[in-house]
Amino acid sequence: MAAAAALVQKAWQVHTTLIEQYGEARFQRSENPVDELIATLLSANTNDANSGRAFAQLKAHFGDDWEAVQRAPIETLKALIRPAGMYNQKAPAIVATLEKLQRDWGCYDLSHLADLPAAEALAYLTTLPGVGHKTASIVLLFCFNGAAFPVDTHIQRISQRIGLSGRRASPEKIKQIWEQLLPPSTFYPLHLNLIQHGRRTCQALTPRCTRCPLQSLCDYDQQSGEWHTESR
Ligand code: SF4
Repeated sequence: MAAAAALVQKAWQVHTTLIEQYGEARFQRSENPVDELIATLLSANTNDANSGRAFAQLKAHFGDDWEAVQRAPIETLKALIRPAGMYNQKAPAIVATLEKLQRDWGCYDLSHLADLPAAEALAYLTTLPGVGHKTASIVLLFCFNGAAFPVDTHIQRISQRIGLSGRRASPEKIKQIWEQLLPPSTFYPLHLNLIQHGRRTCQALTPRCTRCPLQSLCDYDQQSGEWHTESR
């Protein structure tokens, strides 16, 4: 019981410390959930610049006409999204996702997810081809400010190092932990701040612990590259 309370306290301390460091971003709605979904599918295993270029090329070619994307020759799609990498997998996944949206709803729209509880919306999104918990959570968080906490590689690494999770905890496990420890109102700014912290300070190979505002909360020892405490 005391351990659980300590973990809640630690999560709040991380959140408030990062707000002091980076500010508290106000929610900015991503207006089109299908755009967000396809952009997130393109972002798998690449950086923002590359996936952004692929998405921009797709939109420049097809505009908002997702039916045209679904019916386009697959080689055309692959060529347009090539900057995002893994285009042999991503192009068919995009087509299959659009086909399923059309089958399920008769249109290319996900705005009705706003009316569902987060767990139900998440369950539906993860039935779409190529859509896992991270992609589904991003759509829910950025389009609906929903009660979902997406965990990327930066958030996974920081959560493990500070001891919010076990050292080898999966992104899905870490997502569950944050969602249990903090209220949904914290998810949007916390998600953005943890990513920023991972890029600027808690980098994968060279964490800058001596200048890190989370150092007093953190289980990771920069000198040894080990954790102070036993893994949970
Ligand atoms: S103290 Fe080091 S390992 Fe811990 S969060 Fe900060 S940069 Fe990362």
